[in-house]
Amino acid sequence: MGIEEKLPSGILLTSVEKLVNWTRKTSTWGATFGLACCAIEMMAAGAPHYDLGRWGMEVFRASPRQADLMIVAGRVSQKMAPVLRQIYDQMAEPRWVLSMGVCASSGGMFNNYAIVQGVDHVVPVDMYLPGCPPRPEMLIDAILKLREKIMHEPLGANGRKMLEARKERGDVP
Ligand code: SF4
Repeated sequence: MGIEEKLPSGILLTSVEKLVNWTRKTSTWGATFGLACCAIEMMAAGAPHYDLGRWGMEVFRASPRQADLMIVAGRVSQKMAPVLRQIYDQMAEPRWVLSMGVCASSGGMFNNYAIVQGVDHVVPVDMYLPGCPPRPEMLIDAILKLREKIMHEPLGANGRKMLEARKERGDVP
């Protein structure tokens, strides 16, 4: 008989990793990085009709030191790239990046010298969201998928590497 069956009802067992990840995923405060038209849809997602606050995201922080999730909404110009990187560096670990829209993810239709052809050339991206622009429902869906990813993230300095290894084994969606 396992220990769970021996315990009286009402006692819940979990691991520290699951508990910490649950608290992290339920309070991912956003660092807004609205760079172009996609930002309008991001703002709509935070407004009462879509209400990101339902998932513990009611506050978008202007200070990167108080933010966990950078939503890159729009095309990234070459001039903006070092600023974006600096803000990312100022965010405390653990931190996540969501690339919103085709422009942020690949440069989109702006295949020219002025636009970075994918924000992953500047910062590591955890979630890519296609669309031009993605609707607020799509952004919410991407955030929910990111939350699932956070839930499986191993703790510690090598957490990201261990997550990749788990993914290769097929343990994580
Ligand atoms: Fe604008 Fe479309 Fe680019 Fe978003 S993906 S920044 S909506 S052009």
